[in-house]
Amino acid sequence: MTITHATRLLAWYDRHRRTMPWRAPAGERTEPYRVWLSEIMLQQTTVVTVHDYFHRFVKRWPTVEALAAAPLDDVLSAWAGLGYYARARNLHAGAKAVVERHGGHFPEDAAALLALPGIGPYTAAAIRAIAFDHPASAVDGNVERVIARLLALQTPLPDVKPEIQLRAAELVPTKRAGDYAQAMMDLGATVCTPRKPSCVICPLMAGCEGRRQGIAEELPRRAPKTLKPTRRGVAFVLSNREGAVLLRKRPPRGLLGGMDEVPSSAWREGRLVVAEALKEAPVPANWKVLEGGVRHTFTHFHLELVVAHATATTSRLAKLSPGTAWVTLDKLTERALPTVMRKIIAHAVSK
Ligand code: SF4
Repeated sequence: MTITHATRLLAWYDRHRRTMPWRAPAGERTEPYRVWLSEIMLQQTTVVTVHDYFHRFVKRWPTVEALAAAPLDDVLSAWAGLGYYARARNLHAGAKAVVERHGGHFPEDAAALLALPGIGPYTAAAIRAIAFDHPASAVDGNVERVIARLLALQTPLPDVKPEIQLRAAELVPTKRAGDYAQAMMDLGATVCTPRKPSCVICPLMAGCEGRRQGIAEELPRRAPKTLKPTRRGVAFVLSNREGAVLLRKRPPRGLLGGMDEVPSSAWREGRLVVAEALKEAPVPANWKVLEGGVRHTFTHFHLELVVAHATATTSRLAKLSPGTAWVTLDKLTERALPTVMRKIIAHAVSK
């Protein structure tokens, strides 16, 4: 893209920019806190889903200082349902680091941003460009697609990534870098879409090599995917006479770290032997295996769970380990409960 194309893209952005809760009005810069928060939320999550969460977060924690001062459990609870929970822990750790290392002001410098928890090259570049107008190149999946098509880069992903990074950086204009970054994001999300790009209304159409060669829709090419494995286990929904269910805290690190969970057997690949998995129940009880089950997909594997239910008696409560709690169904929304755990409880309640 020559500067002419950057100019065209910016002119298009001036007319078609999307309104987002985190975006400042045209001509103004967005606060770094809002850029950072929205970019962390938008990783792996759709814009529509993020809208409500973003509103809720900034209402409750209007500044990075307020977020840093919040208990981690509150942040995890507010995040529940957005998935990829390491992001919420990093968000909290990142807020603390901004306060402790930078007095509550996000740094403009790339190295200092990259040293903050949860900030990678994309987020650092997005903050530098959008909040500070530095000519930084923020390349996410949308931008990758636009660049691969615009320049007709034929090498499949992920090998083509370094070339895309390089070429994308060359195209960033020295002025209005923040608007340019957001224009690229908007173009990728609304015009140069994964399927059926709307080339006829695209401001970059005249210079788009992918379109000229008639291969735009095939780009970026991808190396064949490896199949995700499936892990299986039994989830144990234990209720008491008051209708509360037993939850326990997951270890602080790793998948769903620090979140609440319904106890379950280990999640293993291969065939599930239910009778064996039932031996891993959190307490001895009259476990009844429910019909159907719960399926959930994580980044690296599918999970299939059989759900077992039992009602606890008082004598068994004494055997519960620390870190567990009885939670009534109406209080579940206040807990840091991942989507998969909500599915398990919903399944048990429906039976
Ligand atoms: Fe994408 Fe088509 Fe625009 Fe090229 S002309 S950037 S393929 S929408």
